[in-house]
Amino acid sequence: MSLDEERLKRDILEGMRALYLRKLVTSTSGNISARIPDSKFVWITPTDSKKTKLKEEDLVKIDFNGKIVEGTNMPSKEWRLHIGILKARKDVNGVVHAHNPFTVGVTMIGKKFKPITAEASMILREVVILPFKRPGSEELSEIVSKNIASRNALILRRHGVIGVGSDIDEARTIVEVIEEDAIVQTVAKIFYKSISRR
Ligand SMILES: [Zn+2]
Repeated sequence: MSLDEERLKRDILEGMRALYLRKLVTSTSGNISARIPDSKFVWITPTDSKKTKLKEEDLVKIDFNGKIVEGTNMPSKEWRLHIGILKARKDVNGVVHAHNPFTVGVTMIGKKFKPITAEASMILREVVILPFKRPGSEELSEIVSKNIASRNALILRRHGVIGVGSDIDEARTIVEVIEEDAIVQTVAKIFYKSISRR
């Protein structure tokens, strides 16, 4: 295995732990994938596993058809979604999917997520909120592939967030920045309501 692949696997494990520590995933939710540079192969987190205890040998290498090439586990149930994005976007090498609680809460209605913090306004491009589709389904993968075109984030209503980037760190930053903005929006709303009653 190349040094590139070893690094990708370490980045996936680090990314998953960071998402858990920030409470953006539970121990069993969320998934991360990374394209092996200039190839049609991907390292991805396994399904039904305790993400906090993941080891390198738990990760799964799949091709663009979802066929397992290396590893003993099954790939994430959302592998179609990851592959769909990597096929649609040659510039994307890292895909992060998390279940950001504040983001999911503030996007129960509406079609777009409008950031209010300076950082989010600078980093995020247009962020649309996609209608609910069953997690792991073909329908979800299709609607995500169609909408990821020039965007770096998508919100899945009642479900979670997808961030994409040139690497996993970039994709994870997107997911974290959205959640921070959603928290600020929530706080601002509470504060605005409390001061408006004075
Ligand atoms: Zn999910």
